[in-house]
Amino acid sequence: MFAKKTVRDVEVRGKRVLVRVDFNVPLADGIVTDDTRIRAALPTIRYLIDHGARVILVSHLGRPKGAPDPAFSLRPVRAVLAQLLGRNVHFIGSVVGPDVTTAVERMVDGEVVMLENLRFEPGEKANDPAFARQLAALADIYVDDAFGAAHRAHASTEGVTHYLPAYAGMLLAREVETLSAMLADPARPFAAILGGSKVSDKFGVIDRLLDVVDTLIVGGGMCFTFLAAKGVDIGTSIVEAEWVEPAKKMLDKASERGVGLLLPVDFVVADRFAEDAECRIVGREEIPGDWMGLDIGPTTIELFKTAISDARTIFWNGPMGVFEMKPYQAGTREVALAVARNSRAVSVVGGGDSVAALKKFDLEERVTFVSTGGGASMKLLEGAPLPGVEALLDQDS
Ligand code: ADP
Ligand code: MG
Repeated sequence: MFAKKTVRDVEVRGKRVLVRVDFNVPLADGIVTDDTRIRAALPTIRYLIDHGARVILVSHLGRPKGAPDPAFSLRPVRAVLAQLLGRNVHFIGSVVGPDVTTAVERMVDGEVVMLENLRFEPGEKANDPAFARQLAALADIYVDDAFGAAHRAHASTEGVTHYLPAYAGMLLAREVETLSAMLADPARPFAAILGGSKVSDKFGVIDRLLDVVDTLIVGGGMCFTFLAAKGVDIGTSIVEAEWVEPAKKMLDKASERGVGLLLPVDFVVADRFAEDAECRIVGREEIPGDWMGLDIGPTTIELFKTAISDARTIFWNGPMGVFEMKPYQAGTREVALAVARNSRAVSVVGGGDSVAALKKFDLEERVTFVSTGGGASMKLLEGAPLPGVEALLDQDS
């Protein structure tokens, strides 16, 4: 299935291996508040250490402006990684230059060195060939395990592959394999659950999923654009006026293809967008003109749960309501629970906020696969090429 060479397909012993990881973690006051992405990179890093490679880790963090900025230093990640690995990780406070070259020359087999934030260099996002060559000069081979950055053609994800033999890391390979297999050969019925704030973010994904799924469940803010397309009065709920026509086309496509499209039948509505707003439950035809839907209602929850429990493949992206606020979290929680409880299904969850919701309800361990790549997962599901993956060596090369 996965057509690219992986780190297992090459002798790494004694080699300097430049590993692009996705350590773009949330920080608060210089502390890593969620180490999921660091943990996700451990299998590849451990494999390389165990096989005697000299491991040079590079990543971006946040959006510094192409120059050093202490607020975006990767230094706090070093300590977390060292602890998780149970070994020393040597941090260099720059990305290229004499300090880096010297440190890399002194490396021994099995050692791990971590460089500073790639985006401190303007050449990273510009995919500048000169910068890519400087990175490549540090190593003998390149391994890409940064699935979350694979939809971007930057120097460290694409440029560098012009100068070094390029292999997939284990996380990247698993992400691509899992998502591709889900689309290519899903156990049926296949139910996709989509939510979140906007249709426009996910239109390509909706379109592609309609070719594959048996049931499409739509909740969250995006459902109001679909309901508007059906002529439902949605009050002041979030809506994207310019996406109403495209949403209509999607409704038609669903019925042409015989896909069961489930939209909410009731809502938790509020008189304003606030945790302490006045709120009540109404049928979807009874949304008061100056109220907004902030969560799916109890009848909808039951409807969605039934479809979820019947499925053998489940893909979930996008919260069902404003789950960050307590009065509007039941829909997301109950849907997450229904996904978790269906142990006969292959369940895949993707999207930053959806994964955050899964964690909030402590259900992360109860689904088959949690995708770490937000934008990259969406691009892959849309069928768009991922430059970071395309650039790797083909399995038959
Ligand atoms: P993901 O990151 O999982 O892909 P999105 O970023 O698309 O998800 O959407 C998440 C956001 O959608 C959340 O911040 C949530 O509050 C918001 N949201 C969900 N339902 C509604 C709604 N009915 N009205 C407004 N915002 C909503
Ligand atoms: Mg999001």
